[in-house]
Amino acid sequence: KLIVFEGIEGCGKTTQLQRSRQWLTTQLGSEVMTTREPGGTQLGTEIRQLLLHGEEEIYDRTELLLYAADRAQHVEGFLRPHLEQGHWILCDRYTDSTIAYQGYGRELDFELIDQLNQIATGGLQSDLTLWLDIEVEAGLERMQKRGQRDASGTGKPDRIEQASLDFHHRVRAGFAALAERDRDRVLRIDASGSEDEVEERIQTVLSQALAN
Ligand code: C5P
Ligand code: MG
Repeated sequence: KLIVFEGIEGCGKTTQLQRSRQWLTTQLGSEVMTTREPGGTQLGTEIRQLLLHGEEEIYDRTELLLYAADRAQHVEGFLRPHLEQGHWILCDRYTDSTIAYQGYGRELDFELIDQLNQIATGGLQSDLTLWLDIEVEAGLERMQKRGQRDASGTGKPDRIEQASLDFHHRVRAGFAALAERDRDRVLRIDASGSEDEVEERIQTVLSQALAN
């Protein structure tokens, strides 16, 4: 099964993904894999660096294509082969991020985005997407407080973390629209409160995924 964690900056998805990995490993009695986009492959790690910490301005369509390239590599080189072997995979961001960030955030054409997602994934969809929903201001504050920075270790906020408040509000509204449209696949999780509280909400949802 492919389970994706989504949400805006500071929603806690990376922390929760690790907690879910531990919990699911015990439940299943076998290893659960974790990965992320952008950056789930070696090439993807370089694309991530270009996207988030490059010097040159990246135009919106360039950005869209780089995320698609990262995804194509990830799907073919990592996700598909491991899913075929029967692994459970927890993935930090996937196609819904592109719709939320490049579609709702950058306001690029939705049809173009759907086509690119289709090309990049060859139709591989998440079995379940957990949208960790938090207020924009709370998320940004959380991010700053924790000093959460990109793995590049530059200590500087990445390009997107520096985007306008308005941008982040559009992205959050995008996730809300996706959860509304694709009710069976995209589930909203209230990501406010303590890490333990959020973990408990996620476990409730994952228990159902385990039963199916
Ligand atoms: O969640 P994570 O920190 O790994 O995401 C890296 C950065 O890439 C974030 O700032 C996120 O907003 C941005 N991003 C984006 N469009 C995507 C996926 C991620 O702008 N499709
Ligand atoms: Mg980040």
